[in-house]
Amino acid sequence: MRRRASLFFTASVFLTLGACKASNSAKAAGATSDWSMHGGNYQEQQFSPLKQIHVENVGKLGLLWSHEFGTHRGLEATPLVENGVIYTTVEWSVVYAIDARTGQVLWTFDPEVSRFRARRICCDVVNRGVALYHGKVYVGTLDGRLIALDEKSGAPAWDTVTFDQSKAYAITGAPRVAKGLVLIGNAGAEYGVRGYISAYDAETGKLVWRTFTVPGDPAQGFESKALEVAAKTWHGKWWVAGGGGTPWDTIVYDPELDLVYTGTGNGSTWYRALRSEGQGDNLYLASILALRGSTGEMAWHFQETPGDNWDYDATQPLMLAELKIGGRARKVIMQASKNGFFYILDRETGEFISAKPFVSGITWAAGVDAQSGRPIESTTAYDGLHPVLVSPDTDGAHNWFPMAFDPQKGLVYIPAKERTAFLHAPDPGWKYDPKSWNRGQNEDYSGPLVKKLQAAPPAVGKLVAWNPVEEREVWHVVHPSVESGGVLATAGDLVFQGRPDGTFLAYDATNGRKLWEFDTGTGIMAPPVTYTVGGVQYITVTAGWGGVPGVINPPGQGITKPGFGRILTFAIGGNRKLEIPPFGHSGPPKPAIHMTASRETVHEGEVLYSTYCLYCHGVNAVAGALPDLRYASVQVHKQFPDIVLGGARESRGMPSFKDVLNEKKVRAIEAFVLSRAEQSAHAAH
Ligand code: CA
Repeated sequence: MRRRASLFFTASVFLTLGACKASNSAKAAGATSDWSMHGGNYQEQQFSPLKQIHVENVGKLGLLWSHEFGTHRGLEATPLVENGVIYTTVEWSVVYAIDARTGQVLWTFDPEVSRFRARRICCDVVNRGVALYHGKVYVGTLDGRLIALDEKSGAPAWDTVTFDQSKAYAITGAPRVAKGLVLIGNAGAEYGVRGYISAYDAETGKLVWRTFTVPGDPAQGFESKALEVAAKTWHGKWWVAGGGGTPWDTIVYDPELDLVYTGTGNGSTWYRALRSEGQGDNLYLASILALRGSTGEMAWHFQETPGDNWDYDATQPLMLAELKIGGRARKVIMQASKNGFFYILDRETGEFISAKPFVSGITWAAGVDAQSGRPIESTTAYDGLHPVLVSPDTDGAHNWFPMAFDPQKGLVYIPAKERTAFLHAPDPGWKYDPKSWNRGQNEDYSGPLVKKLQAAPPAVGKLVAWNPVEEREVWHVVHPSVESGGVLATAGDLVFQGRPDGTFLAYDATNGRKLWEFDTGTGIMAPPVTYTVGGVQYITVTAGWGGVPGVINPPGQGITKPGFGRILTFAIGGNRKLEIPPFGHSGPPKPAIHMTASRETVHEGEVLYSTYCLYCHGVNAVAGALPDLRYASVQVHKQFPDIVLGGARESRGMPSFKDVLNEKKVRAIEAFVLSRAEQSAHAAH
């Protein structure tokens, strides 16, 4: 009661203070006061014309309310806001409706996704949010359902399965709506699937069209001319592993041109030599596709990374804009690609306009040919089945984290990573295995490139202000960590962004000067949004550390703060203090039991760990957001096979691995984990 009362008190005090100041801007803002679409509007520029909060008064920005989700994995959703209600998602595709003024939860919807699905997703059990349309909330779930919920009650209106659930597909992306159709893609190219995007009738949930991104088995016939053309760029029996090309995040709709744009992922496998006999462009992997809104027919395509060999998905957020380039007004589509180049295309025709590196240290390509748009691939970037070391790494110079564009300043603000590097070692013995990863990577590689990778200069995280017309950086901020969250720009000359150390910041959009910061207690990945309720401008962001950097927890990432997930809303005059519940362990690990195991067994355990465990429990068994196995108790060790094989902790998100591991292998993994605990304990002394 007390807590509730103080929330209302804070809100009402603020409203009184803000009311007179707010009225003019609120009127001017008009219909833009909601944030009812991913990216803010159809163009997905992550930009708001609101300017009640501006460079001069942002120092008075404070917390209005926060809500604890009790989650501890990555929170990646862009919250949508309509009529004072926030609609967002957390881990396991759970949907929340929250009163934007008070933080009171209005309803929740749990699709009850099987925890086994954790084994069918590369990068944490995340979700990037919902779509809103005509009184319904649409969510794509990790197990591949597209569900329509009533906006008022959260009750399901329809629920449809979008993929073969026996395969390693997943949905983490937010649906989009185009002319009464709900659009959704899928993920899974790391496991071996065939990517596609589907359009469903928003009212009934009936499938209207489906467009595959890569060709299937030619013997079965092609679904379209575009796929028949694509098949000529593939070799061998690519379809056995699915081919990949999963459009797992970005979808943007241009109502004027009736075109749906999406970006496609890497191939199954990652490696050209294993996937397509080392030949061909492998259309339409790592590409931007434009599809007709009504039919899904391909209007044009542009492949950023032909014959991709480095996991350079082209799935990063696409953004539409009108730019004056070479004295000519152009309707463009822009992307800061994982491969390190900032692309501008004509979105009517797909014509290549420009591509320039937005970070330094790119080694896989010397540049992009100004005429063809094809990368000038470095001779060191591909060597058949031999390992290569390249930058950017598999996480990319920019990933799914939304960038923002201020059309008044003409600047794009990119959450960028510089000089990341990855050692690609194809496994010559790779064969498609539907029960496991199919990246085709040799997990056991220990050749001379390992030393070279270790000696590489450290990666740097940056917020880059990029002038797309002049193809140059205007300013940048260096972060204390390699990662940083999604970005929001506003007409108040502000750029908002969160960091993995939990700091939420506002910068001067003109020069990158830091103007304000707030400690949210847990690493931030998601982009903030802004909107008005009752004529007052609010800023909302979720904090929740996970995803690839949070669960894999690679070393050298800077300060990261795993913790409990929460959503926070800020306004001028907000003054609530955030109480952060403690999370994780203090002090070095101490092996709970002693286990006698040979060096061979420990090594076997290490290889198995790298295949099955690392992607949740962290590199070298040093965890981020999920349980750190070095701290496992006597009880956990007693139950080790019950947990790993028997699924004793399935309800808490730990699936059974009995189909791929046995007791002997589990004991080897346990021996490795204990050896890591011993090493860590030793290092602490
Ligand atoms: Ca990928």
